[in-house]
Amino acid sequence: MPSQIRISDIGLYLRCPRLVYFDAMGRLSHKSNPMHLLLRSLMLAIVCEEDLEGQLKGSLTRLERELPLIYDIEPDEINSACRELEGKISEISNGLSPYIDMLVPCDVEVDLRSEKLGLSGRLDRLAPGGIPSLIRSGKMPGEGVWKRDRLMLAGYSLLLGEKYGKKLGHGLVEYPLSGQVRKVQIYSVDRARVLRIRDRVRQIRGGQLPDRPDDARCAECEALKSCETRVSLASRFF
Ligand code: SF4
Repeated sequence: MPSQIRISDIGLYLRCPRLVYFDAMGRLSHKSNPMHLLLRSLMLAIVCEEDLEGQLKGSLTRLERELPLIYDIEPDEINSACRELEGKISEISNGLSPYIDMLVPCDVEVDLRSEKLGLSGRLDRLAPGGIPSLIRSGKMPGEGVWKRDRLMLAGYSLLLGEKYGKKLGHGLVEYPLSGQVRKVQIYSVDRARVLRIRDRVRQIRGGQLPDRPDDARCAECEALKSCETRVSLASRFF
């Protein structure tokens, strides 16, 4: 049976196919970014529509204590991320309030897996109506969502579609720092693209080093050293 590919691998491939290769070789650190961890945990801790600001403030205090006990992260790093967020909680809460009924009640960190599709993944949020939702701590695009997020949502919609026997037409991306939730259409062409990337990821994980993409953002890449070494080794043979 072909190996299972995680939806996070599809995201990694879309950042750069070579990252999948270096990840398979154990060269990526997977160290948690404190702000990302904090924002994601804050969003996942929302349990109801009432008193959003109070919920966020209470969760921030609790997460400051708990996150260093759960993740490989220093208390100082979480403390400074908490101080940075403290002053923004009202703004975040005001921004998210109009969208709150799109987010709760929900299931969070939902594990999904399909032998038939050869895909698996952990979805941030299964929002009301069985809608897949991702939490993003980074910059929000001017309009719509980033292509990588749209395709990851297409991957989750395939998994949910198989589990519940229906095709999902859209997903959500939550941008807590901007206080917005964006709805995105999921097209058949996206679902088909996810399956093509799944096959490509399998080949790469099997040992096939992909070409360096022309638009790769190498300057800020954690695999830069491995990538350059691998290229110079290869160029000695060819
Ligand atoms: S250094 Fe550039 S080509 Fe190599 S993995 Fe990173 S982004 Fe991709």
